[in-house]
Amino acid sequence: MRTIAVINQKGGVGKTTTTANLAAALALAGKRVCVIDLDPQAHASTHLGAEPDGTLPSLYDVLVSNKPVAEVRRTVGDNLSLIPSDINLAAAEVELAGIVGREVILREALAADATAFDYVLMDCGPSLGVLTLNALAAADEVFIPLQPHFLALHGLSKLLETTALVARRINPKLTVTGVVVCLYDAATKLAQEVVTDLTTFLAQSRGANVPWANAKVFGTRIRRNIKLAECPSFGKSVFAYAPKSSGATDYAALANEVMGVAAPVVVGPLKLTVEV
Ligand code: ADP
Ligand code: MG
Repeated sequence: MRTIAVINQKGGVGKTTTTANLAAALALAGKRVCVIDLDPQAHASTHLGAEPDGTLPSLYDVLVSNKPVAEVRRTVGDNLSLIPSDINLAAAEVELAGIVGREVILREALAADATAFDYVLMDCGPSLGVLTLNALAAADEVFIPLQPHFLALHGLSKLLETTALVARRINPKLTVTGVVVCLYDAATKLAQEVVTDLTTFLAQSRGANVPWANAKVFGTRIRRNIKLAECPSFGKSVFAYAPKSSGATDYAALANEVMGVAAPVVVGPLKLTVEV
């Protein structure tokens, strides 16, 4: 099982798009996948067709009322489950303020759960607050979606410092696997410059005792594609909504890369190479 936190404290960089569509791609490849939505805005839940209506249990009940995750998790597709968010989560930060060990509640809840998954993907909101800390405490890996524009690297050091703190204090196995370049526009020089700067920056940390010592920039770039922006409002992944789009091609390629298929060969959105 790989437990992955998808984080970046900046909003609008592609966290939710990446979580939902990477999860869908992995599920299509036959992997058992669970998405955990840690953003009170519940965009990942909506994207996966489970728009919160305020009546069903959510991650809030796990974090604040100790409800077992099995009672909150829903099936949203073949091989695909969701622990949804809802707006109540916005209050969790305050409600958990006086609780001892509030950063490890999710980790404990997942450890107590018997259902096995191949991939758990956690979509975080745009902050480094208690919800994101719960994801980092429960994760083995961190994926950082990044939009390659001016100042894109600006918030990155703060984000990486947070992973180092979490690794030191609550989760020694935490590793930053890599950066996913989203909303990529190959035609702009700036996008290429940002990727070059990022690659150079990460190379400086090789061998250092930091969670990002082996982090890479994923070879797959997620190009800007209108279908990716449209599909959430239909409660569908890009594979269900526009299987021939470049968005589907790119997330299928990213899934191959994540599964460790040697070269991320693009063979069409639905014909995913299966791990051997
Ligand atoms: P975050 O979760 O980091 O806030 P989102 O994944 O919600 O970011 O993306 C921000 C906005 O950009 C959303 O409206 C989303 O649909 C859109 N978007 C994300 N990735 C792409 C892409 N590759 N091409 C076009 N639109 C995208
Ligand atoms: Mg989001």
